[in-house]
Amino acid sequence: MALSGLDIYKLLPKTNCRECGFVTCLAFAMQLAKKTVSIEKCPLLSQESKNILEASSQPPIKLITIGEGEDKFSIGNENVLFRHEEKFHNPTAVGFIIEDALSESQIKEKLAKINSLRFERVGQLLNVNLVAIKQTAGKDKFIKAVQLVSGGTKLGLVLMSDDADALNAALEITASKKPLIYKATNSNAAEISKIAFKYKVPLVALESDLEKLSLLTKNLNNQGASDLVLDTGRKTLPEKIWDLTQIRRQALKKSNRALGYPVITVTNSNDPYEEVIEAATYISKYAGIVLLQNCEPGLILTLLTLRQNIYTDPQKPLQIEPKLYPVGAVTNKSPVLVTTNFSLSYFTVLGEVEASKVPAYIVSVDTEGMSVLTAWAAEKFTPEKITDSVNKFGVKETVSHKKIIIPGYVAMMSGDLEETSGLEIIVGPKEAAGLPSFLKNL
Ligand code: SF4
Repeated sequence: MALSGLDIYKLLPKTNCRECGFVTCLAFAMQLAKKTVSIEKCPLLSQESKNILEASSQPPIKLITIGEGEDKFSIGNENVLFRHEEKFHNPTAVGFIIEDALSESQIKEKLAKINSLRFERVGQLLNVNLVAIKQTAGKDKFIKAVQLVSGGTKLGLVLMSDDADALNAALEITASKKPLIYKATNSNAAEISKIAFKYKVPLVALESDLEKLSLLTKNLNNQGASDLVLDTGRKTLPEKIWDLTQIRRQALKKSNRALGYPVITVTNSNDPYEEVIEAATYISKYAGIVLLQNCEPGLILTLLTLRQNIYTDPQKPLQIEPKLYPVGAVTNKSPVLVTTNFSLSYFTVLGEVEASKVPAYIVSVDTEGMSVLTAWAAEKFTPEKITDSVNKFGVKETVSHKKIIIPGYVAMMSGDLEETSGLEIIVGPKEAAGLPSFLKNL
């Protein structure tokens, strides 16, 4: 757990020698607490104090990386229980299980469907992260499925097998992709940890009871497996939420290093709708990885949208660069619409302008990422601000007409805006959905 400035001060030599560049040890301690300096700056620090300070600066939930290349991703390294306290850092990895009992064509078909799960929303790419190959039959069938999946995707891999021989053979093929091994338990820890250590890959530790799980992670650490992901096995939804919450609390509030790892969850339901609800609950409450069976694009998009929202910094709304955006084959006669630089506002307007097939310009005003009404109420979307943007982005030089269209919700500012901008103000629809018919009839 992070130490306070005073806690750190107690560990320093207290000589005020200034070799660290600070006037006093206390000043240095305060900066260490804020993580703006390194402990290396103090040459007089004892090894014992150094060890304590290094241990306290480790993240309470270990950062685990799975995969290689551009599609690799990391989970863990979270510092808070509640998003509003700071932010959640590493989004839950979403993956899909492919059982080796499927035929070759079925595996290829499901894999192609998983690979195509990429969406763009408010200017960000939303994608899935993992394919898990699950052994349900003999070793040969598992290896064949691993070969097919490994050769057919850039996504991260999970190797789900209790058979050490099968895992060894699968890692001969896939180790360079740094897959996650699922799973070690207290009964096979020695055997499976050797494999994880040999191939330097992360490993899932599974025990249903949290005390047994703590013992297992300590045991695995002693055997050289330190990149761990936790699982508490198949349980009801409330039981899983309890486990996920307790593990997060133990890691953050009790500094329980044995449970300081991200958690993997595997959905229970076979119904695609229930499964997505279950997965959404796990994403909301601390899962580092969620594995599902079904991969219907419409349902997965809802899941990825939820994840995008949960992992957005609550203090920094998603925003785009404020500027003049041309949409379609614009000319100097094209209409000019004004909106804010809140991503959702801009991309909603953009989608409707594109749907209208009327080429147009969009002025995105810097409202610090606030939506139209919020920005208006906060005095960030005022006649003066809009006029500044219109002038700064060269609207009057870009189009020959002297008109701009403002959102219907801020119709009340049209008189003042006309005065400050010197332009004719046209009041557009309140909702972006009204833009296509509005633009066609303009
Ligand atoms: S170098 Fe170390 S002992 Fe000297 S003032 Fe800085 S913190 Fe204190």
